[in-house]
Amino acid sequence: MSRNPSHILQSVFGYPEFRGQQAAVIDHVLSKRDALVLMPTGGGKSLCYQVPALCLDGITVVISPLIALMQNQVDALRELDVEAAALNSTCSPQMQKEIFTKMRDGSLKLLYIAPERLFSDGFLDFLSGFDVSLFAIDEAHCVSQWGHDFRPEYLRLSILHEAFPHTPRIALTATADAPTQKDIIGRLNLEYGEVFKSSFDRPNIQYHITPKQNGVTQLLSFIKNSHPNDAGIVYCLSRRRVDTIAEKLVAKGHKALPYHAGLPAEVRAANQERFIKEEGIIMVATIAFGMGIDKPDVRFVAHLDLPKNMEAYYQETGRAGRDGLTATAWLAFGQQDIAKIRQLLSNNLSENQTRIERQKFNALLAYCETLGCRRQVLLSYFGETFGACGNCDNCLTPPVVTDGTEAAQMALSCIYRTGQCFGSGHIIDILMGVDTDKVKNAGHDNLPLYGKGSSYSRPDWQAFIRQLLSLDYISQDIEGFGGLSLNEKCRPLLRGEEAFSTRKYVPHKKQNGRAKTVAPDNPIDAALFNELKALRLEIAKAANIPPYVVFHDKTLLEMVNLKPGTLNSLSEIQGIGDSKLEKYGKQFLNLLKQQ
Ligand code: ADP
Ligand code: ZN
Repeated sequence: MSRNPSHILQSVFGYPEFRGQQAAVIDHVLSKRDALVLMPTGGGKSLCYQVPALCLDGITVVISPLIALMQNQVDALRELDVEAAALNSTCSPQMQKEIFTKMRDGSLKLLYIAPERLFSDGFLDFLSGFDVSLFAIDEAHCVSQWGHDFRPEYLRLSILHEAFPHTPRIALTATADAPTQKDIIGRLNLEYGEVFKSSFDRPNIQYHITPKQNGVTQLLSFIKNSHPNDAGIVYCLSRRRVDTIAEKLVAKGHKALPYHAGLPAEVRAANQERFIKEEGIIMVATIAFGMGIDKPDVRFVAHLDLPKNMEAYYQETGRAGRDGLTATAWLAFGQQDIAKIRQLLSNNLSENQTRIERQKFNALLAYCETLGCRRQVLLSYFGETFGACGNCDNCLTPPVVTDGTEAAQMALSCIYRTGQCFGSGHIIDILMGVDTDKVKNAGHDNLPLYGKGSSYSRPDWQAFIRQLLSLDYISQDIEGFGGLSLNEKCRPLLRGEEAFSTRKYVPHKKQNGRAKTVAPDNPIDAALFNELKALRLEIAKAANIPPYVVFHDKTLLEMVNLKPGTLNSLSEIQGIGDSKLEKYGKQFLNLLKQQ
């Protein structure tokens, strides 16, 4: 028997309509055909199998590689009174028994399972005794050796097709590149399935990239101006930096916690738990943090160090704003960072691999230096064409572009004339005509270029040199003294056959763009929003679940806007289905009525 998907969407999940390709995917799956769904993070992949699971008789089996993710989903489903369970290594024998009982009596609708569990102890045989309505293979890119999350157990998932030839399979991922996509189709035998590919744009994320002066001070002012009490993630490259930055944020009154592989497992787990179950926590982390976190209200992701490539940048920034509300991806980078990553990339890699990694890193740098729309560059890297977005720093405050050809030529000549061994500080001193001891001792005050660049400020010169480095005109020797040298690419520029456009340095650039906080502007509404959040937190704490599992911010915001006065009008708000209305409706209504 098949129940109506739109009805399930409204009554169980409390949403009035499907988003993007959800309806098409669900129809397709309900007609028992296989599908590969490529949707960005926050695009709404889960509903693509959760709704069919509730429409169809039998059990939907969801294969998921991460225990934490499984548990979050199961918690969220149980909140909706949907019978769901997770079978993994953390299950006690008693819990297992309960799950099997629910399977036998036909009440269990969704079973989340790790692939290793699926293939152990004759579990597949056991499963074949049940009516399996659908297999959902989440994080399907794990089947591909091409991506970085390869899981060997995922390779065995092709067996499902043979063991359950009549059960449709839906594979889902937020990794879109063509080789991974091809791998998934091949390895899971999805050749006869349909591919549903959505745009990978994340319209609610505002992209900001800024040259680094004092990174921490810049970070603090970004948080203060744009996300004062919001939850966020700050990525740093090293464990030591994570610890220091977390301390500095705490010293400034922020609720910040560190997360990196050098911390004891208990501390890491406790910090992660707080990040999820409390509100407004800033996690300062190495990239070890984030996989398996589907907290929807991360309002910003800040990078104090450069990611290695565009894929990593997209994935890490993608952890912001899963709930669709305004979020920011912020990054500060400087000349030192460029050299640091370039060096890291050449460690322990073959020559060929180093070359590929360098190219990928250069694409990221070109993105960071771009004078046009960031989103356009980001999406074009993933093969999508896009107009100017209006929601990135360059669109919001178009940079003042000047011709930097002459300045670039001066810098290049100065590097060349001084023997390609001095760092940028010294080169800038010469160009600006500063008479330091180092300049005098080397006799560099006698160079014809000495003082020729004094019409530019130091930050201007720093920006010129950073751009020359980013765009691969020059290299920096990181192991020695940071000496700069010329690359082949600079010849046409030196000969005047190529122009060099640059962004004019604007001191203390004012924060620009729309307000990024999700709280309402009007103080009365903002106060009500806070009261609703307090009630939500109280309920969440009592039930030991994350606040967003009770209601998303979006739901609370709609309550503030519509101020419903009856249970019936409350039920029309997004995210309030039958079970939540029954559980929490009265409490929230009482609070709303007090206004
Ligand atoms: P993904 O797994 O693709 O990252 P999720 O399935 O977690 O995304 O969905 C992201 C968010 O969007 C969730 O908070 C979910 O409740 C919400 N959502 C999904 N589909 C809809 C819809 N049709 N209407 C409103 N909200 C939706
Ligand atoms: Zn833009």
